[in-house]
Amino acid sequence: MALTAVKGFNDILPEESGRWQYIEQTARRVFELNGFGEIRVPVMEKTELFCRSIGDATDIVEKEMYTFTDKGENSVTLRPEGTAGVMRAFIEHKLYAQDPIAKLYYMGPMFRYERPQKGRYRQFHQIGAEITGVNDPLADAQVLNMLTAFFREIGLTEPTLQINSLGCPDCRPAYRTALRSFLQERMAGLCEDCKRRFDTNPLRMLDCKVPGCVESTVGAPSVLEHLCKGCDEHFSAVRRYLDHSGTPYSINSRMVRGLDYYTRTTFEMVTGLLGSQSAVAAGGRYDGLISQLGGPAIPGIGFAMGLERVALLLGNQDFGTQPDLFIATMGAGERDVAFRLMDGLLKAGIRVEMDYEGKSLKSQMRRADKLKARFSAVIGENEVASGKTSIKRMADGIQTDAALTVAGIQSLVMKSEQ
Ligand code: ATP
Ligand code: MG
Repeated sequence: MALTAVKGFNDILPEESGRWQYIEQTARRVFELNGFGEIRVPVMEKTELFCRSIGDATDIVEKEMYTFTDKGENSVTLRPEGTAGVMRAFIEHKLYAQDPIAKLYYMGPMFRYERPQKGRYRQFHQIGAEITGVNDPLADAQVLNMLTAFFREIGLTEPTLQINSLGCPDCRPAYRTALRSFLQERMAGLCEDCKRRFDTNPLRMLDCKVPGCVESTVGAPSVLEHLCKGCDEHFSAVRRYLDHSGTPYSINSRMVRGLDYYTRTTFEMVTGLLGSQSAVAAGGRYDGLISQLGGPAIPGIGFAMGLERVALLLGNQDFGTQPDLFIATMGAGERDVAFRLMDGLLKAGIRVEMDYEGKSLKSQMRRADKLKARFSAVIGENEVASGKTSIKRMADGIQTDAALTVAGIQSLVMKSEQ
C-alpha cells in the first residue's frame, strides 16, 4: 500500500511556502513593533492542562483532542490551541516575577480531531499573541488594533472585526439563568448537543449552527444587557478606544467562544469568503485563567489566527521566490564561466539560476520562463572572448549590454528593481 500522510494533516509544498512565510513575517513585524516577543512552547502537554483551562464541557475537550497514553502511562495531548501552554510556561518559569506585564506571541501547529474540509484540518497552524498583567481596557484595544493592523499590512480588507463581552463570574451566572429560562420552553426544537449544553454550557447554544437551534435562539436575551457595572464600563472603554483609533468593528452580542476561560471582551475576525469556516482569528480576555492554572491572580488577553484561513484569503499571488537572473550557456565550454559568475552573484545577494545539465539553449530558455526569472543572460564563446553579454528583461524582451562581471550584472539587475 502506498504511504500517504495522515488524514487532515497537510504538506506545505515549496510553491505555497512563500505565502506562508509572508504571513509569518508580517505577523512578526507587526507584533514586534507592538513590543511582543516570541515564545516557543512544546506541541504536547499533559492532558490535564487542557481540561483545566479550555474546559471539560467544550467541543475541543469533549470531542477534538488527540489524547493518548505514552509509554510511561502518562496521559498526554497534542495541543489543540496555544494559550494554555503559553500560560503554563508563564507560570512555570515565573515570568511574572520580573514583570507581570508580558507581551508574548507564538506560531506553530495545533491539532484537533475534526472533519477535514476547506479551511478545517486536523493539523493546522495558529499565530497568536497574549498580553498579561493589564486589567485596563487599553490592553484590549491595543490587541484589537494590532490584529487589525496585521490584516491591513498583509493587504486584506476581509475579514472584519466583531466584538462582544461575556461578562465575568459576578454577572454571568445571572445571564446564564436568564438564557436558560428563555430556552427552557424551546427545548423541543434543539439538537441533541444543545440539549446537553443546556445543563453544561448553555451559552454555547447561541453558537450552534444547526438550523433548528438557530431558529430557537432568535430573540434570546443579550449578554450585553446583563453585564455588571464593571464589565459594562470596561466594554464601553474598549469601544471608545477603538473609535479613537478609527478601528472599524461591529458588536455581535451572540458571539460566544468555544473555550471556557474567556471573560469580558471577546472578539472574532470574520469573513464571508470561506463558507462555514468564517472565523479567521478569534480571542478574548481571560482574567481567571492564570490563577485557575495555579499561578497568581494576573489577568490576560489574547487571540489566535488560523494561518491556513489567512492563506486561503490571500489567494495565489506571487510571493517573490523567482530568480533575478537565469544564466544560459551555449555549450559545455561556458558552464565554468557561468558557474563562477553565479557563485559571485549569489555572494552579492542576487538570486541566480543556471543550467545544470547541458540542455539545448531553447530548453534552457523554457526553464527561465518557467522559473519566472526577471532577467536572462546567454553566455557563448563570443561573450567570453569580449567580456560582455546582453541582459534580457523577460517581461518585455528589452536587452541591455553589461560587462560579464559580478559588478556589471549586479548593478543592472539592482537598478531595475527601483
Ligand atoms: P471554528 O468555529 O471555525 O471551529 P474555533 O472557534 O474552533 O473555529 P478557535 O479555537 O478560536 O477556533 O481558534 C482560532 C482560529 O484558529 C480560528 O479562527 C481558525 O482560523 C483557526 N482554526 C481553528 N480550528 C481550525 C481547524 N481545525 N483547521 C484550521 N484552522 C482552524
Ligand atoms: Mg472549532
